[in-house]
Amino acid sequence: MTPSLLGSAANRFSVKILPSSPSSCFSPAHRRSFAQLRNTKALIQYANRIPKAELHVHVEGTLYPSLLHRFANRNGIPTSALQHKDPQTEYEFEGYSGFIDLYSSNCQVLVNEPDFYELTRDYFVRARQQGIRHAEVFCDPQLHTRRGVPISTIINGICNAMDTAETEMGVSGKLILCYFEDGGPHGHRRKGEMDPIEELRSVQEDPNIKKDRLAGIGGYSYDPNAPYKQLKPVYEYARSVGLKTVVHAGEYGPASSVREAIKTLRVDRVDHGVRSAEDLTVLRLVERTKTPLTVCPLSNVRLGFYESLQKHPLRMLMQGGCLLTLNSDDPAYIGASLSDNFRSCIEQLHLSRGEIKTLAINSVDVSFASDARKEAIRQEIEKYDSSFNMNL
Ligand SMILES: [Zn+2]
Repeated sequence: MTPSLLGSAANRFSVKILPSSPSSCFSPAHRRSFAQLRNTKALIQYANRIPKAELHVHVEGTLYPSLLHRFANRNGIPTSALQHKDPQTEYEFEGYSGFIDLYSSNCQVLVNEPDFYELTRDYFVRARQQGIRHAEVFCDPQLHTRRGVPISTIINGICNAMDTAETEMGVSGKLILCYFEDGGPHGHRRKGEMDPIEELRSVQEDPNIKKDRLAGIGGYSYDPNAPYKQLKPVYEYARSVGLKTVVHAGEYGPASSVREAIKTLRVDRVDHGVRSAEDLTVLRLVERTKTPLTVCPLSNVRLGFYESLQKHPLRMLMQGGCLLTLNSDDPAYIGASLSDNFRSCIEQLHLSRGEIKTLAINSVDVSFASDARKEAIRQEIEKYDSSFNMNL
């Protein structure tokens, strides 16, 4: 099935709710069906509220159409300049390249610090409603600096919103700057962009840029033949100044890109990594090195990497002993939040209560939060779990 046939609303991932029937008609099979339905609903409720962390979400991917148009209006960008014309409708795009094209184009509305602040704050409000207690948010500076937006505007807008979220909502946040290499002659840099190492150095040295929430760097490679060759020096520099490292691999790129991520870039986590399931030697490497994978199942389906959730390797990776977390990736574009990912995986991949709790604990354990913050959230998880007394 092509991505366009998959639709875009979050509830397209849901199974149909069984119609109600008079109790006199209940056969044993019906009773089992209704018991399963009750069980599924309770598990969804359990997953929605359990304290957890989200570790793979792009702030640009939380730019819902209503925000896109609000920011465009106040920055004097006419609707005619936008690919998406109607703030009331969901984004439409064809496959991965269509997504990247729309996503990059929409970034033109992010101009000033209040834009980055409000975008981030909007995400944290949604996060709080889903039981998220800590979030590590990607930002792709190259999408903005190439348009002349200073890096200080981006980082300060996002990090000030994270300060507000922690004070007002009790949700802590970290920022990960995400760089790319396209395999072309310019590597990780296009016209108007600063070299990532120079940029990171300038951030470290600028007293006017907030740095307390800058946790690390991330990356992509659009070159499956030589993944991360150009990014390697950036990662080595980031590590030398105490930043954590993650990278997208095993999604657009093949299973071997996960091996490169672990062996060449020596990352702390791999984002996605699901195509590890296609190569047993890579799968064993992920398990042996205990490299966490930040998995985004509904994103993988919506962007066309898997035909359906039933074909997604989440359960195989779990059973193989991989350290997994669930995440939304780009919720405004995918049409699915973290809660939607849990709900669909419960309905279609039959996650159990124990597996949901493990995913929540994993998300905290492999986060870049402080040890004290991790321990506080783990205690919240245990308290929540013991108070959730539905018989599952
Ligand atoms: Zn991503």
